[in-house]
Amino acid sequence: MLADMDEAQVVEKAQTIIDSISKPFEIDANKISIGATIGVAFYPQHARDEVELIQLADTAMYHQKKRTPSTVGIFSDVLGYQIAREQKLKSRLNDAIENEELRLVYQPIIDIKKQSVFAFEALLRWQLDDEAVAPDEFICIAEQYGQIRKIGAWVLKEACLAAKRWQNRHPKFLNVGVSINVSVIQMQEVNFTRIVQEALSESGLHAGYVYLEITESIFATDMEKMFQQVTALQKMGVKVSIDDFGTGYSSLSMMQDLAVNLVKIDQSFIHKIESNGQSIVNAVMNIADGLHFKVVAEGVETPKQLEKLESLRVNYLQGFYIAKPLEEKDISSYLDS
Ligand code: C2E
Ligand code: MG
Ligand code: MG
Repeated sequence: MLADMDEAQVVEKAQTIIDSISKPFEIDANKISIGATIGVAFYPQHARDEVELIQLADTAMYHQKKRTPSTVGIFSDVLGYQIAREQKLKSRLNDAIENEELRLVYQPIIDIKKQSVFAFEALLRWQLDDEAVAPDEFICIAEQYGQIRKIGAWVLKEACLAAKRWQNRHPKFLNVGVSINVSVIQMQEVNFTRIVQEALSESGLHAGYVYLEITESIFATDMEKMFQQVTALQKMGVKVSIDDFGTGYSSLSMMQDLAVNLVKIDQSFIHKIESNGQSIVNAVMNIADGLHFKVVAEGVETPKQLEKLESLRVNYLQGFYIAKPLEEKDISSYLDS
């Protein structure tokens, strides 16, 4: 559209168009305004024919519209790479279960007082061809495209089956529980309690050994519905934990209403426990007494952190200093040791 212009000139021109389109119209004493977001791609840097050029400008526009609508977005190779990557992960994720590319690993959570394993946290792994894709990358894609419901149901079932297997190995492992990450999208499903119930009955695992980890982002959703869901799960005997506590939207009154069973303090506070993290952990411990929840410290990496957490009377510890996530086949020997 715009010949012989550099990037700055194009942006200026595009912004003028947006400003012009965005001027409100007065119709029958009503003010009506529309907006516009503009995407830009350059010939010949980005594409060599008009069809592809328009496609890339379109891509830049949609990306911009998601982030900051009513502004100008310019295509870049980085953006092109990000979008291609997301599309690839999104489409391969559809068949990841059927292709047996997903598996769970298990990180111990230990009880400081009893000096024993309290539970294992199930953590999802995706082996895509010869690449191990990090959960921090693919979970949010699965959430964005709705696949998390199916994947989450699979995780629940697999984790319960695995827990039943380690409990069956020896009577002394009978009370070692399993902690399972659950996305807010799963919690919003009307039949979520049924999915949990099915995982329990299929595995034969007792509900009291299941801890569902939800992040503080649930506090930013329809709390009425969430409250019902959590209460229904707790009635079944399942325990509920707040994951990555302290980084998000927790409200103390909602914590009280929800009556969560466990709070997992985010690793960022544990990593700075020797400086200002201590006061946060201390404060959480005080609230824990009043609201009757137990506290897990996540991301324990050094003996000094462990010592400090012990002196603050934190109940449970998890982190690389204690153990990295284990493959299921290594759980027995870990428990034995
Ligand atoms: P999370 O639930 O907070 O899990 C703890 C993460 O911290 C894990 O990363 C674990 O490997 C890592 N970690 C444990 N100890 C240490 C430590 O001492 N130092 C450091 N630096 N890291 C430690 P991972 O496995 O990469 O998982 C990342 C996140 O992905 C999880 O954070 C969780 O939010 C999500 N996730 C993993 N599996 C699932 C799943 O099955 N469903 C859902 N919805 N989310 C999952
Ligand atoms: Mg977790
Ligand atoms: Mg966490």
